[in-house]
Amino acid sequence: MSSHPIYLDCHATTPIDERVLNAMIPYFTEKFGNAASISHIYGWESEAAVKQSRDILATAINANPEEIIFTSGATEANNLAIKGVAEAYFAKGQHIVTVATEHKAILEPCEYLKSMGFEIMVLPVNQDGLIDLEQLEKALRHDTILVSVMAANNEIGVLQPLDKIGKMCRQKGIIFHTDAAQAIGKIPLDVEALNIDLMSLTAHKVYGPKGIGTLYVRRRNPRIKLAAQQHGGGHERGMRSGTLYTPQIVGFGKAVEIALAEQEPENQRLTELRERLWKQLSTVEDIYINGHPQKRLAGNLNISLEGVDGAALSLALQPMVAVSSGSACSSNNVAPSYVLTALGHPEKLAYASVRFGIGRFNTVEEIDKVAEHFITTVKSLRSASVVIL
Ligand SMILES: *Cc1c(COP(=O)(O)O)cnc(C)c1O
Repeated sequence: MSSHPIYLDCHATTPIDERVLNAMIPYFTEKFGNAASISHIYGWESEAAVKQSRDILATAINANPEEIIFTSGATEANNLAIKGVAEAYFAKGQHIVTVATEHKAILEPCEYLKSMGFEIMVLPVNQDGLIDLEQLEKALRHDTILVSVMAANNEIGVLQPLDKIGKMCRQKGIIFHTDAAQAIGKIPLDVEALNIDLMSLTAHKVYGPKGIGTLYVRRRNPRIKLAAQQHGGGHERGMRSGTLYTPQIVGFGKAVEIALAEQEPENQRLTELRERLWKQLSTVEDIYINGHPQKRLAGNLNISLEGVDGAALSLALQPMVAVSSGSACSSNNVAPSYVLTALGHPEKLAYASVRFGIGRFNTVEEIDKVAEHFITTVKSLRSASVVIL
């Protein structure tokens, strides 16, 4: 690992915490039973482990265990929520409202529904990345069946006002779904207090394994109906058939348990690291933060930089630091990030942009090293670009 660059891409994925891995291991080997086998101890052991994780996840979001539907991740949970509601509430209406900065796993299912005849309203965001609540209220109609707004954005870390959106939807009797893949274990999520009807989660953004997630599906006040998108043995209350992936489910539960126990001090630590990084980066000229300065995830810093070629910056950073970087400039064939485009700074579209995702295993020393390397890199690229331009 010593030759590997410093990992600051925690919005893409996170490493598994060793405590999570250790909890998972027995369920690959001696405790390998099928949680649906009711005739022997192999099945019972697996079922008990699944139940324990289901309880942890339900408690984490103030839900009931039966409201937790295991899926392969947030992509599947989002698909199940959006297509499942569209199919089940088709007779009530075909109007769905979402936001321009949502993950592709929201926007693409919506595009698909559009091709099937649904009407999709995509709300814009303001320059900080937040939706306008008045605009949302105006968008809601008698035939609106679903509003889907993410909790925390995966590129700019912006936190949408779930409490206000939930209240508005509940008053109007519209189902509210939120993609909370980036939010679980990082900000408080209470489905009762926030009036959330459906919520997508995933384990691998919170130091759990890849390939496991859940959809929270409200069962009462009101009871949400969903059309299954995968049919088979009737697992997960018929909403998602398929043998449960016990080791991943155990890991998911453990990961969320740890993240919640450490949430407050960890957010404090990450905020300090992010501020330390920004304090150094901001000494560079013509550098800007993307997204709301406060209403964002503690570990997220997304910046745009003037007068630097995005592809060249990306290439120069790679040996030292693993970040998600790009350029909005189409001349070097790097497509603009639609999330940054949605913030509506046309002048910044020619800038290079970098997303730093700081996480549990990053240290002060790493942040300082990255800052130093970044500053040197930008300075040398800028002096070189005088010739190129
Ligand atoms: C990562 C992510 C997803 C996709 O989750 P998978 O579990 O990888 O399918 C969806 N939405 C957001 C906001 C994400 O960050």
